[in-house]
Amino acid sequence: MELRKDYILDRYVIIAEQRTLRPDSFRRDGVIHPNNLSDNQIACHFCAGNEYLTPKEKGRFGNPWIIRWFENKFPIVEPLGKYFIQTDNKYFTFSDAYGYHEVIAETNDHNKQLYDFNEVEIKNLLTVYKNRMQELYSKDHIQYVHLFKNHGKDAGTSVKHSHSQILALAHIPRLVREELTVVNTYQTCPHCEILNIENASYRRCFENNTFVAFTPYASRFNYEIWIFPKKHYASLTEISDDALLDLASIMKRVLSRLKDLNCSYNYYLHCTPKGYMNNPAAKTLHFHIEITPRIQLWGGVEHGSETIVNQVSPETAARFYRGEQ
Ligand SMILES: [Zn+2]
Ligand SMILES: [Zn+2]
Repeated sequence: MELRKDYILDRYVIIAEQRTLRPDSFRRDGVIHPNNLSDNQIACHFCAGNEYLTPKEKGRFGNPWIIRWFENKFPIVEPLGKYFIQTDNKYFTFSDAYGYHEVIAETNDHNKQLYDFNEVEIKNLLTVYKNRMQELYSKDHIQYVHLFKNHGKDAGTSVKHSHSQILALAHIPRLVREELTVVNTYQTCPHCEILNIENASYRRCFENNTFVAFTPYASRFNYEIWIFPKKHYASLTEISDDALLDLASIMKRVLSRLKDLNCSYNYYLHCTPKGYMNNPAAKTLHFHIEITPRIQLWGGVEHGSETIVNQVSPETAARFYRGEQ
Protein backbone atom coordinates (compact mmCIF):
# COMPACT_ATOMS: atom_id res chain seq x y z
CA MET A 1 0.00 0.00 0.00
CA GLU A 2 1.35 3.38 -0.96
CA LEU A 3 0.54 7.00 -0.23
CA ARG A 4 1.00 9.07 -3.40
CA LYS A 5 0.84 12.81 -4.00
CA ASP A 6 -0.53 14.37 -7.17
CA TYR A 7 2.20 15.54 -9.59
CA ILE A 8 1.81 19.18 -8.61
CA LEU A 9 -1.24 19.60 -6.33
CA ASP A 10 -1.40 19.18 -2.56
CA ARG A 11 -3.63 16.14 -3.00
CA TYR A 12 -2.91 12.64 -1.73
CA VAL A 13 -4.20 9.19 -2.68
CA ILE A 14 -3.71 5.87 -0.91
CA ILE A 15 -3.21 3.12 -3.47
CA ALA A 16 -4.59 0.04 -1.66
CA GLU A 17 -5.10 -2.57 -4.28
CA GLN A 18 -7.03 -5.66 -3.21
CA ARG A 19 -5.61 -8.58 -5.10
CA THR A 20 -8.82 -10.56 -4.59
CA LEU A 21 -10.82 -8.02 -6.61
CA ARG A 22 -10.91 -8.58 -10.36
CA PRO A 23 -12.24 -6.02 -12.86
CA ASP A 24 -15.63 -7.75 -12.80
CA SER A 25 -15.93 -6.89 -9.12
CA PHE A 26 -16.23 -3.21 -9.98
CA ARG A 27 -19.27 -3.63 -12.17
CA ARG A 28 -22.26 -2.25 -10.34
CA ASP A 29 -24.11 -5.53 -10.63
CA GLY A 30 -21.04 -7.56 -9.58
CA VAL A 31 -19.72 -8.50 -6.18
CA ILE A 32 -18.88 -5.17 -4.60
CA HIS A 33 -17.06 -6.35 -1.52
CA PRO A 34 -16.39 -9.73 0.06
CA ASN A 35 -18.14 -8.47 3.18
CA ASN A 36 -21.47 -8.00 1.46
CA LEU A 37 -22.53 -11.34 2.85
CA SER A 38 -23.10 -9.58 6.13
CA ASP A 39 -26.86 -9.21 5.75
CA ASN A 40 -26.74 -12.86 6.63
CA GLN A 41 -26.10 -12.88 10.37
CA ILE A 42 -24.28 -16.23 10.33
CA ALA A 43 -21.62 -14.83 7.99
CA CYS A 44 -21.39 -11.37 9.63
CA HIS A 45 -17.87 -10.88 10.93
CA PHE A 46 -19.00 -8.22 13.39
CA CYS A 47 -21.65 -10.26 15.22
CA ALA A 48 -21.23 -11.77 18.69
CA GLY A 49 -20.31 -15.42 18.25
CA ASN A 50 -18.28 -14.72 15.10
CA GLU A 51 -15.31 -13.09 16.81
CA TYR A 52 -12.99 -15.71 15.29
CA LEU A 53 -13.75 -14.27 11.83
CA THR A 54 -12.17 -10.87 12.57
CA PRO A 55 -8.46 -10.07 12.62
CA LYS A 56 -6.77 -9.45 15.94
CA GLU A 57 -9.05 -8.01 18.64
CA LYS A 58 -7.75 -4.77 20.16
CA GLY A 59 -10.31 -4.45 22.94
CA ARG A 60 -13.91 -4.69 24.08
CA PHE A 61 -16.39 -2.85 26.29
CA GLY A 62 -18.86 -4.76 28.48
CA ASN A 63 -19.02 -8.39 29.52
CA PRO A 64 -20.30 -10.02 27.38
CA TRP A 65 -19.07 -7.36 24.98
CA ILE A 66 -21.33 -4.52 23.82
CA ILE A 67 -18.67 -2.68 21.79
CA ARG A 68 -15.65 -4.48 20.30
CA TRP A 69 -12.72 -3.18 18.24
CA PHE A 70 -10.21 -5.01 16.08
CA GLU A 71 -7.83 -4.62 13.16
CA ASN A 72 -9.47 -4.02 9.78
CA LYS A 73 -9.51 -7.10 7.57
CA PHE A 74 -8.86 -4.90 4.54
CA PRO A 75 -6.53 -2.24 5.94
CA ILE A 76 -5.57 0.74 3.79
CA VAL A 77 -2.61 1.54 6.05
CA GLU A 78 -0.26 -0.74 8.01
CA PRO A 79 2.56 -0.12 10.52
CA LEU A 80 5.15 -1.32 8.01
CA GLY A 81 7.80 0.28 5.83
CA LYS A 82 8.77 3.94 5.48
CA TYR A 83 6.45 6.38 7.23
CA PHE A 84 8.11 9.55 5.92
CA ILE A 85 7.27 11.17 2.60
CA GLN A 86 9.97 11.37 -0.06
CA THR A 87 10.21 12.64 -3.64
CA ASP A 88 11.79 10.87 -6.60
CA ASN A 89 12.29 12.49 -9.98
CA LYS A 90 10.55 15.78 -9.06
CA TYR A 91 6.94 14.74 -9.76
CA PHE A 92 6.69 11.48 -7.81
CA THR A 93 6.12 11.99 -4.09
CA PHE A 94 5.20 9.02 -1.93
CA SER A 95 5.62 7.01 1.25
CA ASP A 96 4.43 3.64 2.41
CA ALA A 97 0.81 3.91 3.56
CA TYR A 98 1.92 3.78 7.18
CA GLY A 99 -0.44 3.59 10.14
CA TYR A 100 -3.13 1.59 11.90
CA HIS A 101 -6.60 0.81 10.59
CA GLU A 102 -9.17 -0.42 13.10
CA VAL A 103 -12.88 -1.20 13.05
CA ILE A 104 -15.23 -0.64 15.98
CA ALA A 105 -18.33 -2.86 16.05
CA GLU A 106 -20.61 -0.38 17.82
CA THR A 107 -23.06 -3.00 19.11
CA ASN A 108 -23.40 -6.77 19.44
CA ASP A 109 -26.85 -6.51 17.82
CA HIS A 110 -26.79 -7.03 14.04
CA ASN A 111 -30.14 -5.28 13.55
CA LYS A 112 -29.52 -2.14 15.58
CA GLN A 113 -28.18 1.00 13.90
CA LEU A 114 -26.47 3.92 15.63
CA TYR A 115 -29.64 6.04 15.38
CA ASP A 116 -31.45 3.36 17.45
CA PHE A 117 -28.96 3.75 20.34
CA ASN A 118 -30.02 5.64 23.47
CA GLU A 119 -27.91 8.54 24.75
CA VAL A 120 -25.93 6.42 27.21
CA GLU A 121 -25.10 3.88 24.48
CA ILE A 122 -23.88 6.67 22.20
CA LYS A 123 -21.85 8.09 25.06
CA ASN A 124 -20.22 4.69 25.62
CA LEU A 125 -19.20 4.63 21.97
CA LEU A 126 -17.80 8.18 22.22
CA THR A 127 -15.79 7.07 25.26
CA VAL A 128 -14.33 4.22 23.19
CA TYR A 129 -13.50 6.76 20.42
CA LYS A 130 -11.71 8.95 22.96
CA ASN A 131 -9.73 6.07 24.47
CA ARG A 132 -8.72 4.65 21.08
CA MET A 133 -7.61 8.09 19.98
CA GLN A 134 -5.46 8.52 23.09
CA GLU A 135 -3.83 5.13 22.65
CA LEU A 136 -3.19 5.47 18.92
CA TYR A 137 -1.64 8.92 19.38
CA SER A 138 0.86 7.32 21.78
CA LYS A 139 2.29 5.14 18.98
CA ASP A 140 5.48 6.02 17.13
CA HIS A 141 5.19 8.11 13.95
CA ILE A 142 1.44 8.74 14.29
CA GLN A 143 0.55 12.37 13.56
CA TYR A 144 -3.20 12.24 13.05
CA VAL A 145 -6.05 9.95 14.10
CA HIS A 146 -8.99 10.08 11.71
CA LEU A 147 -12.20 8.69 13.16
CA PHE A 148 -15.15 8.18 10.86
CA LYS A 149 -18.32 6.27 10.16
CA ASN A 150 -19.79 5.03 6.89
CA HIS A 151 -23.48 4.13 6.98
CA GLY A 152 -25.08 2.65 3.89
CA LYS A 153 -23.88 1.75 0.40
CA ASP A 154 -23.82 5.32 -0.90
CA ALA A 155 -21.55 6.23 2.01
CA GLY A 156 -18.99 3.60 1.13
CA THR A 157 -19.93 0.45 3.04
CA SER A 158 -21.84 -2.69 2.22
CA VAL A 159 -21.54 -3.98 5.79
CA LYS A 160 -24.89 -3.62 7.53
CA HIS A 161 -23.66 -4.23 11.09
CA SER A 162 -23.26 -0.77 12.68
CA HIS A 163 -19.58 0.14 12.85
CA SER A 164 -17.04 2.97 12.85
CA GLN A 165 -13.44 3.03 11.65
CA ILE A 166 -10.21 4.60 12.84
CA LEU A 167 -7.21 5.46 10.72
CA ALA A 168 -4.07 6.41 12.63
CA LEU A 169 -1.83 8.13 10.08
CA ALA A 170 1.79 9.20 9.84
CA HIS A 171 0.74 12.35 7.99
CA ILE A 172 -1.87 15.05 8.60
CA PRO A 173 -4.61 14.85 5.93
CA ARG A 174 -4.71 17.84 3.59
CA LEU A 175 -8.13 19.09 4.72
CA VAL A 176 -7.11 19.20 8.38
CA ARG A 177 -3.80 20.85 7.45
CA GLU A 178 -5.68 23.47 5.44
CA GLU A 179 -8.11 24.17 8.30
CA LEU A 180 -5.18 24.57 10.72
CA THR A 181 -3.24 26.82 8.36
CA VAL A 182 -6.23 29.10 7.84
CA VAL A 183 -7.14 29.15 11.54
CA ASN A 184 -3.58 30.28 12.26
CA THR A 185 -4.03 33.35 10.06
CA TYR A 186 -6.73 34.68 12.47
CA GLN A 187 -6.06 36.55 15.70
CA THR A 188 -8.44 34.28 17.62
CA CYS A 189 -10.21 31.03 16.73
CA PRO A 190 -12.67 31.79 13.88
CA HIS A 191 -14.86 28.83 14.77
CA CYS A 192 -15.51 30.23 18.27
CA GLU A 193 -17.02 33.27 16.55
CA ILE A 194 -18.76 31.34 13.75
CA LEU A 195 -20.62 28.99 16.09
CA ASN A 196 -21.94 31.94 18.08
CA ILE A 197 -23.18 33.62 14.90
CA GLU A 198 -24.72 30.40 13.56
CA ASN A 199 -26.35 29.63 16.90
CA ALA A 200 -28.48 32.72 16.34
CA SER A 201 -29.04 32.17 12.61
CA TYR A 202 -31.58 30.41 10.38
CA ARG A 203 -29.14 27.52 10.24
CA ARG A 204 -29.27 26.75 13.96
CA CYS A 205 -30.59 23.24 14.64
CA PHE A 206 -29.95 22.10 18.22
CA GLU A 207 -28.20 23.32 21.34
CA ASN A 208 -27.53 22.09 24.85
CA ASN A 209 -25.20 23.17 27.66
CA THR A 210 -22.00 22.15 25.89
CA PHE A 211 -22.69 21.72 22.16
CA VAL A 212 -24.42 23.35 19.19
CA ALA A 213 -25.47 21.84 15.87
CA PHE A 214 -26.02 23.89 12.73
CA THR A 215 -26.12 23.38 8.98
CA PRO A 216 -23.00 25.06 7.55
CA TYR A 217 -23.42 28.19 5.40
CA ALA A 218 -21.75 26.58 2.34
CA SER A 219 -23.04 23.03 2.87
CA ARG A 220 -21.62 20.61 0.32
CA PHE A 221 -24.08 17.81 0.96
CA ASN A 222 -27.87 17.73 1.20
CA TYR A 223 -28.69 18.03 4.93
CA GLU A 224 -25.04 18.39 5.97
CA ILE A 225 -24.82 19.30 9.67
CA TRP A 226 -21.90 20.16 11.98
CA ILE A 227 -21.63 19.75 15.75
CA PHE A 228 -19.26 22.00 17.73
CA PRO A 229 -18.55 22.33 21.46
CA LYS A 230 -19.41 25.89 22.55
CA LYS A 231 -16.10 26.22 24.38
CA HIS A 232 -12.86 25.83 22.51
CA TYR A 233 -11.75 22.21 22.83
CA ALA A 234 -8.89 21.16 20.56
CA SER A 235 -9.76 17.48 20.45
CA LEU A 236 -12.24 14.84 21.54
CA THR A 237 -9.54 13.74 23.98
CA GLU A 238 -10.12 16.99 25.95
CA ILE A 239 -13.86 16.45 26.43
CA SER A 240 -14.93 15.39 29.94
CA ASP A 241 -17.27 12.47 30.65
CA ASP A 242 -20.17 14.79 31.49
CA ALA A 243 -19.67 16.73 28.27
CA LEU A 244 -19.55 13.48 26.29
CA LEU A 245 -23.11 12.82 27.47
CA ASP A 246 -24.11 16.24 26.09
CA LEU A 247 -22.44 15.33 22.79
CA ALA A 248 -24.29 12.00 22.76
CA SER A 249 -27.56 13.79 23.38
CA ILE A 250 -27.10 16.20 20.48
CA MET A 251 -25.92 13.34 18.21
CA LYS A 252 -29.06 11.40 19.12
CA ARG A 253 -31.21 14.31 17.92
CA VAL A 254 -29.29 14.60 14.65
CA LEU A 255 -29.24 10.84 14.01
CA SER A 256 -32.98 10.53 14.70
CA ARG A 257 -33.64 12.97 11.87
CA LEU A 258 -31.25 11.05 9.60
CA LYS A 259 -33.25 7.93 10.38
CA ASP A 260 -36.34 9.73 9.08
CA LEU A 261 -34.42 10.59 5.88
CA ASN A 262 -33.40 6.90 5.63
CA CYS A 263 -30.25 7.84 3.71
CA SER A 264 -26.63 6.77 3.63
CA TYR A 265 -24.37 9.11 5.58
CA ASN A 266 -20.77 9.62 6.73
CA TYR A 267 -19.49 11.46 9.71
CA TYR A 268 -15.95 12.24 10.76
CA LEU A 269 -14.18 14.08 13.53
CA HIS A 270 -11.81 16.98 12.97
CA CYS A 271 -9.34 17.33 15.83
CA THR A 272 -6.05 19.09 16.37
CA PRO A 273 -3.12 16.83 15.38
CA LYS A 274 -0.73 15.68 18.10
CA GLY A 275 2.11 17.95 17.02
CA TYR A 276 -0.05 21.07 17.48
CA MET A 277 -1.57 20.15 20.85
CA ASN A 278 1.35 21.28 23.00
CA ASN A 279 2.80 23.89 20.70
CA PRO A 280 2.29 27.33 22.32
CA ALA A 281 3.25 29.01 19.04
CA ALA A 282 0.37 27.46 17.09
CA LYS A 283 -3.40 27.87 17.43
CA THR A 284 -5.38 24.66 17.75
CA LEU A 285 -8.31 23.55 15.62
CA HIS A 286 -11.74 23.80 17.26
CA PHE A 287 -12.86 20.17 17.60
CA HIS A 288 -16.02 19.33 15.64
CA ILE A 289 -17.96 16.57 13.93
CA GLU A 290 -19.14 16.93 10.32
CA ILE A 291 -22.12 14.76 9.38
CA THR A 292 -22.60 14.40 5.62
CA PRO A 293 -25.64 12.56 4.22
CA ARG A 294 -24.94 10.99 0.83
CA ILE A 295 -28.10 11.58 -1.16
CA GLN A 296 -27.15 13.51 -4.27
CA LEU A 297 -24.50 12.01 -6.53
CA TRP A 298 -21.60 14.23 -7.51
CA GLY A 299 -21.00 14.67 -11.24
CA GLY A 300 -18.55 16.38 -13.54
CA VAL A 301 -19.05 19.84 -12.03
CA GLU A 302 -18.24 18.64 -8.53
CA HIS A 303 -15.40 16.28 -9.42
CA GLY A 304 -13.93 18.37 -12.24
CA SER A 305 -14.07 21.82 -10.69
CA GLU A 306 -14.62 21.22 -6.97
CA THR A 307 -17.56 23.61 -7.26
CA ILE A 308 -20.36 21.76 -5.56
CA VAL A 309 -24.01 22.09 -6.51
CA ASN A 310 -26.27 21.45 -3.49
CA GLN A 311 -29.98 21.20 -4.24
CA VAL A 312 -31.03 21.59 -0.59
CA SER A 313 -30.16 24.91 1.01
CA PRO A 314 -28.73 24.73 4.53
CA GLU A 315 -31.60 26.97 5.69
CA THR A 316 -34.15 24.41 4.41
CA ALA A 317 -32.10 21.59 5.92
CA ALA A 318 -32.07 23.34 9.32
CA ARG A 319 -35.88 23.61 9.25
CA PHE A 320 -35.99 19.87 8.62
CA TYR A 321 -33.70 19.15 11.59
CA ARG A 322 -35.76 21.44 13.83
CA GLY A 323 -38.92 19.51 12.84
CA GLU A 324 -40.55 22.47 11.08
CA GLN A 325 -41.13 20.47 7.91
ZN1 LIG B 1 -23.63 -8.63 12.46
ZN1 LIG C 1 -12.55 27.84 18.89
